[in-house]
Order: sequence, then C-alpha cells, then structure tokens
Amino acid sequence: MSADRQLSVDTADDNKLVRTDSFTGCRLIPDCLLPKVEFRSLLQHAGATKDVFTMKEVMFYLGQYIIQKQLYDQKQQHIVHCAQDALGRVLGIDSFSVKEPRVSAEWRLPESCLEPCVICQSRPKNGCIVHGRTGHLMSCYVCARKLKKRNKLCPVCRLPIQSVILTYLS
Ligand SMILES: [Zn+2]
Ligand SMILES: [Zn+2]
Repeated sequence: MSADRQLSVDTADDNKLVRTDSFTGCRLIPDCLLPKVEFRSLLQHAGATKDVFTMKEVMFYLGQYIIQKQLYDQKQQHIVHCAQDALGRVLGIDSFSVKEPRVSAEWRLPESCLEPCVICQSRPKNGCIVHGRTGHLMSCYVCARKLKKRNKLCPVCRLPIQSVILTYLS
C-alpha cells in the first residue's frame, strides 16, 4: 500500500473507518493499525514482523522496545524518557508516563487495584468477575462469589456475571 493511497483515505470527509491515533500517529482501522513508517520501524526493532497491528500488539511491541532500549526512569518505572531516542522523535514528545490513560488499558493496572474490596472494604480485590472476554476486578473472591450466587450483575458495567475467578497478582 502506498503512502499516497493512505493519505487519500485519511482525508476523505466523514470517513469514520480511518482515523489517526493522536498519540502514536498511527492510522486506526477498526481493531487494527497501520503505523506510520517511522513508528513501524521502531516496532520492527522490537521484533515485529508485519505492517498492520492491533492496538494490543502495538502496545506489546512498544513495551518491548522501551525495555530493550532501557528508556524507563530508574526510580519511577512508569516514566519513559524518549527525548534521546527515535521514539521521542516519532512521538514528538520528550517523556511520557505509562500510567496516563492515553496509553492502552491493556498495558497498565490502575492504582485502585491496591485498594480493598469495594463491597467488604477489608479483603484484597482478588475475585475477578468475568463476562465474555473481559472481567472487572473490584471485589474480593468471597464477595464476587456472593454476587454470582445471587444472580447479580457486574457492579461496574451491569453485564451478567458468567464466572468468578480467584485472581493472583505476581
Ligand atoms: Zn469483599
Ligand atoms: Zn463488568
């Protein structure tokens, strides 16, 4: 696919299929990304071998790249310094935090996972409420099992609870 063709798709009015991700500059086609050339070469540096990526894959290879190049701050490991690296040139920023919501949810855990169960306020959040291919972790295993037993919905998103799994963080 030539760059010209991507550009013409990109500028088409009201074309909801293709939009540009403001953070990575990648063109987003539902569930898949066509990273711009400079960014793609960084992903390839991290071991990627294709041209089109899902957001999850981009975040995976970006993570690999950051680890390989040791761009993490020595003390605050969620801070990435990229001013001296090609990554900084591609993104147009000097540093960023992987805690910021603009980085995909698949790549981070919110700090709230360290707070106790929202229901009993005592045990740790270790009962993941599963619905389809996603889950919400807001309560302990005991409380999550009680919700399931009483046929309650997921307290966060109101989806039916399919199962409850005891979740370990390591
Ligand atoms: Zn609980
Ligand atoms: Zn939910």
